[in-house]
Amino acid sequence: MARITLDHLAHAYKPDPRTADDYALKEINHVWSQGGAYALLGPSGCGKTTLLNIISGLVRPTRGRVLFDDLDVTDLATESRNIAQVFQFPVVYDTMTVRENLAFPLKNRHVPREKTAQRVEEIARLLDLTRVLGRKASNLTADMKQKISLGRGLVRPDVAAILFDEPLTVIDPHLKWQLRSTLKEIHRALDITMIYVTHDQTEALTFADKVVVMHDGAVVQTGTPDELFERPAHTFVGHFIGSPGMNILPCRIEGATAFIGNEAIPLLRSYRTLSAGEKLELGIRPEFARLQPKGSGLPVHVRRIDDIGRARIARVEMAGRPLAASVPDGISIEGSEAALALDPRHVHIYANGHLVAGEALGGNKA
Ligand code: ADP
Ligand code: MG
Repeated sequence: MARITLDHLAHAYKPDPRTADDYALKEINHVWSQGGAYALLGPSGCGKTTLLNIISGLVRPTRGRVLFDDLDVTDLATESRNIAQVFQFPVVYDTMTVRENLAFPLKNRHVPREKTAQRVEEIARLLDLTRVLGRKASNLTADMKQKISLGRGLVRPDVAAILFDEPLTVIDPHLKWQLRSTLKEIHRALDITMIYVTHDQTEALTFADKVVVMHDGAVVQTGTPDELFERPAHTFVGHFIGSPGMNILPCRIEGATAFIGNEAIPLLRSYRTLSAGEKLELGIRPEFARLQPKGSGLPVHVRRIDDIGRARIARVEMAGRPLAASVPDGISIEGSEAALALDPRHVHIYANGHLVAGEALGGNKA
């Protein structure tokens, strides 16, 4: 078990990288605490697998170091790193039984037979594989084979970390939910660092205590699910997390007032220090932009209202810009003209995509 440190890590698959675009992974500094349940979340192609493979040793980084506790493992082979990795697609030995497959990582490390048998039974029970333990892996469904792969990843209780690379891709949707909770339970029981790669925010937010969000080869934010929701550090996070995601509206700022078109939006902080030429945007989540009858608030044009079960979401236009808003219970809107109330505590200002802290209105910089 270990704390894993990524120190000025960067990777290019090209031999002679020059510009930032040549890097599949831009510079990353990050510490994964011992015992943490992490999700590495981002769209396809953003560098998740590259990062995971650097941690496990399948890929050697172009620059920087990987440390397990204080030991530099950058040049250590995968076998010497004491890491378990579960891939997107099943890796099982077809000619072996399920029991032999699960026992393999332990047998390889000369764990006593009794202990191995006990551990295999335990993992099989957790993954609901007990009744197929005696069967050859070759005749099983993709679902089952992937569960065996998960089992092989989980069977060693002494690993530094377990890395999961989109492990539920081939799993049937109804089983996904169940396996996700199983993994979470196993994490609680084992106190092992787990890094779970996914492009699916629901998977990330339900599994992880801490989510590391990647975009275009870089980590854009690390935080708890609440932090990512409440205070996205980058417009990408605002947009990618939430359904619908955060509204991101081009704006102009004068002191403590934002303007979207001609609509003035009072802010709780002042932004006098923004420099000219920066792309300024206002971010507000639909949950904090509430639709109300016209008269008070920002005038909007209502395009439609969708009932998504837990809430009603209105698609509106403000100063010609589309945005999503929530419709509070008990509010009914007549016709297509209405108004919006933005909760000022949840209005965020972004410059070139990055959250700007601003200054307290009293003049103190915070
Ligand atoms: P993700 O897992 O988030 O989908 P990857 O880490 O697989 O992303 O890929 C990141 C970038 O690196 C992509 O642009 C991909 O095309 C590129 N890439 C991945 N593997 C290789 C490789 N073996 N050789 C060259 N380019 C690669
Ligand atoms: Mg991948």
